[in-house]
Amino acid sequence: MKDFNNNPYFEVFSKQHQNQYAIGNQSYKTRIETLNKLQYAIEVTYRTEIQDALHKDLGKPVLETELTEIYAIIGDIKYAKKHLHQWMRKQNVETPMSLLGSNSYIKYEPKGVCLIISPWNFPFNLTFGPLVSAIAAGNTVIIKPSEMTPNASDLMSKIVAAIFSEDEVAVVQGEVEVSTQLLKLPFNHIFFTGSPNVGKIVMKAASQHLASVTLELGGKSPTIIDKTANIDKAAKKIMWAKFLNTGQICVSPDYVLIDESIKSQFITACKKWIDAFYKDNPQVSESYGRIVTDKHFERLNSYLENAKALNAKFEVGGNTDSASKYIAPTIISDLKPEAKLLEEEIFGPILPIVTYNSLDIAIAYINSKPQPLALYIYSKSKTNTNKIINNTRAGGTCINNSVLHYANHELPFGGVNNSGIGKSHGFHGFKSFSNERAIMKQNTFGVTELLFPPYTGFKEKLTRLTIKWF
Ligand code: NAD
Repeated sequence: MKDFNNNPYFEVFSKQHQNQYAIGNQSYKTRIETLNKLQYAIEVTYRTEIQDALHKDLGKPVLETELTEIYAIIGDIKYAKKHLHQWMRKQNVETPMSLLGSNSYIKYEPKGVCLIISPWNFPFNLTFGPLVSAIAAGNTVIIKPSEMTPNASDLMSKIVAAIFSEDEVAVVQGEVEVSTQLLKLPFNHIFFTGSPNVGKIVMKAASQHLASVTLELGGKSPTIIDKTANIDKAAKKIMWAKFLNTGQICVSPDYVLIDESIKSQFITACKKWIDAFYKDNPQVSESYGRIVTDKHFERLNSYLENAKALNAKFEVGGNTDSASKYIAPTIISDLKPEAKLLEEEIFGPILPIVTYNSLDIAIAYINSKPQPLALYIYSKSKTNTNKIINNTRAGGTCINNSVLHYANHELPFGGVNNSGIGKSHGFHGFKSFSNERAIMKQNTFGVTELLFPPYTGFKEKLTRLTIKWF
């Protein structure tokens, strides 16, 4: 291996590199034991500390932490444990007549030494979720959590150090310079969750070693509501999904595209549900969080200022408090196309409403932007739903609901192009951290030997016959 001695993380990388076959060859039983240790740590030992850390970092309500962090990871672990035996088994494939005398199978072997770089919005879920897949697949892992949520990152370091030795799984904390140094090392696989811009940096760095990548990115996820939709139910689900984690979710409904004729009815229903969810005052509600950092608060505030300057209509909310990084649940309509809220990924509790008067215009609007991570459709019309699905591209789609496709482990989770490369969750996550090794074993005499050179006489005839019939 090239000399990386000057790299501050080479020592830990090197330990994991040396240990990778020992870890990779651990039995099914040992991998289950490791997953059990992680489960116990999250479910029992550190449960309250996780809740506290997320309350400090993100003002996250305890129940939201239970649902979107603790329950989510435990769900990942239980699902992996239930299916691991099957995933680890060699997968026999059919043998064509031309290869008679042999058999073939796929072995899911670990990629080796992996790097997981995670974001701040669901710090535990988006770090330990991929870790579950990496462990299930038999890898060693270095984790670089986000610097934006220091309490969560400290606790993750503590949990990992309590369960794993450094040559198995290690956490390295720090900002961009730390990621940059880590990305210089020749990892076998890099699993990155974050913004499309940083995704490009990660992919460029990975290309130096031709490391494979899973890029779980973001972008603007649209929600289309057509005339046939149940407006009240749509408003309820969208208000929940939009303001969950204060809008700081990669699959958050970024903006709504709604048939012009039902706009005002929808906005009235949204107001009703916001009042119901946050007891008429989100600022004092236990169920409503805060923006992660001053920098992100300023970014969102600048989008609001920009909307005001462009004379947009504030339908709901718009008030903020910089001291507590509070931004009220906000709905804005009549935005000019050049408004920041329609150009940038919002990643906060502001919902722009864009109207259309024909579905084709709505589809064209979506297709004028990069392919989204999620696309939501609220409609009772099969024809409209199919038309939207067949004429757009997205990482995932939820019909008559929002966000929840993320929660089905059977579905691959990930984006397409600008919203991501590769998939996670369940078997799809296990596969991302595995090399599908193609193995063919010759058991008896193989007919292909009859085709070896020289290609004359009988062999020539046989070769031609083989090409014709097989
Ligand atoms: P980010 O891209 O700024 O940071 C993610 C991670 O990359 C952090 O650990 C950070 O330290 C590191 N990083 C930042 N700049 C870097 C650089 N120049 N070089 C190397 N590493 C660098 O993202 P974020 O602000 O933490 O998260 C928000 C973004 O993540 C949004 O775009 C959101 O949609 C996306 N996201 C996607 C998913 C998903 O599953 N697809 C989940 C959550 C968030």
